[in-house]
Amino acid sequence: MDAAGSPRAAPPGAALPRPFGAYVHFPYCAHRCPYCDFAVTTAPVPAGGRYARAVLAELALRGAPFDGQRLVSIYLGGGTPSRWAVEEVAEVLAALRGRYGAGHLAEVTIEANPESCDRARLAAWREAGVNRVSIGVQSFDPGVLAQLGRRHDPEAAARAVRLAAEVVGNASVDLIYAGRRSSPASAAADAARAAACGAAHVSAYALTLDPEVMAEEVPLARAARSGRLAFPGEAEAVAQARAIRAALRRAGLRRYEVSNFAKPGAESIHNRLYWEGESYLGLGAGAAGCLRGLPGGGGVRWQDLRDAGAWLTAVEAGQLPTGEEDRFDARADRNERVMLGLRTRRGVALADLPTAARGEVAALRARRLAVVRNGRLVLTSRGLELQGAVAERLWEPEKN
Ligand code: SF4
Repeated sequence: MDAAGSPRAAPPGAALPRPFGAYVHFPYCAHRCPYCDFAVTTAPVPAGGRYARAVLAELALRGAPFDGQRLVSIYLGGGTPSRWAVEEVAEVLAALRGRYGAGHLAEVTIEANPESCDRARLAAWREAGVNRVSIGVQSFDPGVLAQLGRRHDPEAAARAVRLAAEVVGNASVDLIYAGRRSSPASAAADAARAAACGAAHVSAYALTLDPEVMAEEVPLARAARSGRLAFPGEAEAVAQARAIRAALRRAGLRRYEVSNFAKPGAESIHNRLYWEGESYLGLGAGAAGCLRGLPGGGGVRWQDLRDAGAWLTAVEAGQLPTGEEDRFDARADRNERVMLGLRTRRGVALADLPTAARGEVAALRARRLAVVRNGRLVLTSRGLELQGAVAERLWEPEKN
């Protein structure tokens, strides 16, 4: 262990090892929200520290390739990790710090439902090393919350954000727009209230019920498919997104990624790792992980078994609980970096784009979909609305 707390610090003059994040998934929820397609279960939380022990067992199985890299962020997501016993949260955080060192660890986030954010629990998380709480508010409008099948009331959500900002010092709020009862006015009011309660960071996502990506059994997706319930169309969703952006801008939160906004200095370190194409160690049922920079370029991406029972059984038998695994080559890696980089205000370095994309860059600038700033291609607000299609035009083609 070196003075900075890192078990394997680089010798003076050597290049710093790569940063990486750890993502720990806690899949247990009190009930399943009707729009949710995440890896969750309403089964009881395993008693006696069983889930934490299993996470630590998976760390022992998966952790070695990350040894010697810089752990800069830990994110406890779900599911509802705020239902996880605080001592188990502390045990998992301590194990990650123990293995990789805390010298570079800048951000430790826990996702929380508003009803979990009481003063004692927030203080215990802070004590365990948590320095950021991401609260699943979704909306402060009772009608919108009811349509989303969320059970908290708006006042409790506002209290939770204020308390998290006060006790832990850094609160982020998740909002959902383009639901059945949302409008530009309700979306703007949600954004303004989140900021007024002290959120330094807001993630705002449109309700996604796309049949191509949603599982068959998600109730709201089924209702949308059958035409039983009507949801706002594309133009309405764009209008709501614009209303959110304007409200947050007025409150001093700057858009730094397609769906993410922050006060200066409060941008999420963990999210930035994803968008900048760094590796992340995923642990827990349904967790996704990605290890880049394998010999020859490229990397491997995996998702753990989504079924919590099957995941526990595999880990407890000493087996890697992999559900899916995908190896990708250096070209796919470069294209993904372009895709992810264009989501952000930093954009992508022109030098990292394939030579064949030069004509596209000129066309994007001419159509005011992108600008070039300090040698980087950055999408404008209009360009960000078309980000996926724009990125594909800049990809490196497959060699025949
Ligand atoms: S609380 Fe979050 S993770 Fe759990 S079911 Fe609802 S949306 Fe899904």
